[in-house]
Amino acid sequence: RPRVLSGIQPTADSFHLGNYLGAVRNWVTMQDTCDAYYMVVDLHAITAGHDAKVLRDRTRVSLAQLLAFGIDPTRSTLFIQSHVPEHAQLGWVLSCITGFGEASRMTQFKDKSAKQGAERSSVGLFTYPILQAADILLYQADAVPVGEDQRQHLELTRDLAQRFNHLFGKTFTLPEAYIPKATAKILDLQDPTAKMSKSSSSPTGLLEIMEDKARSAKKIKSAVTDTGREILFDPEDKPGVSNLLTIYSALSGRTIEDLVTAYAGKGYGDLKKDLAEVFVDFVTPIQAATREYLDDPAQLDKMLAIGAEKARAVASQTLAAVYDHVGFIPAK
Ligand code: ATP
Ligand code: MG
Repeated sequence: RPRVLSGIQPTADSFHLGNYLGAVRNWVTMQDTCDAYYMVVDLHAITAGHDAKVLRDRTRVSLAQLLAFGIDPTRSTLFIQSHVPEHAQLGWVLSCITGFGEASRMTQFKDKSAKQGAERSSVGLFTYPILQAADILLYQADAVPVGEDQRQHLELTRDLAQRFNHLFGKTFTLPEAYIPKATAKILDLQDPTAKMSKSSSSPTGLLEIMEDKARSAKKIKSAVTDTGREILFDPEDKPGVSNLLTIYSALSGRTIEDLVTAYAGKGYGDLKKDLAEVFVDFVTPIQAATREYLDDPAQLDKMLAIGAEKARAVASQTLAAVYDHVGFIPAK
């Protein structure tokens, strides 16, 4: 069975719909056919400033949401990144074969450091893609289910794997990005030129899984739409309406074509009202299940201990091979 690995950051009190449609939805389906490793990447979540208590809470909420979406710890290995020290260890080794210029070309750093400027951003934010490469390569993953925004980081991961294999002998599997066609990039409701993002979208641009449902419905109804009044799928000229159609189609299982036909002659208001209902129906059971998982922290901890052990069994083998291949003498 192919091995898959992916991660999500505990950088908010809730995942947003883009996280689900771009990534986690595929995580759920892939656990049937793959040997799956999924993690909450808390090491990545401290790269842009954070509060310790908030991080702890968000890590738990993230895990509970993954379980609510259908990640099944008996079929997948679900764990927290910081429980597996090999991530940081391999990250260091990979950072030593990454060019400074190569790292400087990563657009996520440019985007995420734009507000405060590179000068004031952490070195951790800069080296984030190298740690991410370590996350993936440690598990010898064949496929990495992610959204479109992670394509460049996957390319870097492949480059580093290839370079390491070339320099020190075959050590790593080359992973492929697995990016869903229709929902690779869900857009911000208020700014449909930008991706929906936990850390940079405005509250009204984000559709959060865990927020008050009436509030979500309101956000959908006040989403930015485009000039004209026809409901057409045209991501270039009508990014706002097209984004709503993408979401509607993904949540309802109806094709975009079918929706466009059904809404011919109707207005943006009709589309938004119906989509709000579809969204509320979708999140209602997820919210309830998430709360149930959060109500039983002992069970969550037990599951995490099992996940960490399973993950470490694989990660420690890869790291041992890496240390040997680069020439570190083993501790006796
Ligand atoms: P942050 O703003 O803190 O980086 P994020 O919203 O980008 O948060 P991540 O935890 O970085 O979320 O990413 C988790 C997964 O969700 C990744 O696979 C990423 O590609 C995917 N993803 C994030 N935003 C979107 C989006 N708008 N559309 C589709 N997929 C997305
Ligand atoms: Mg992100």
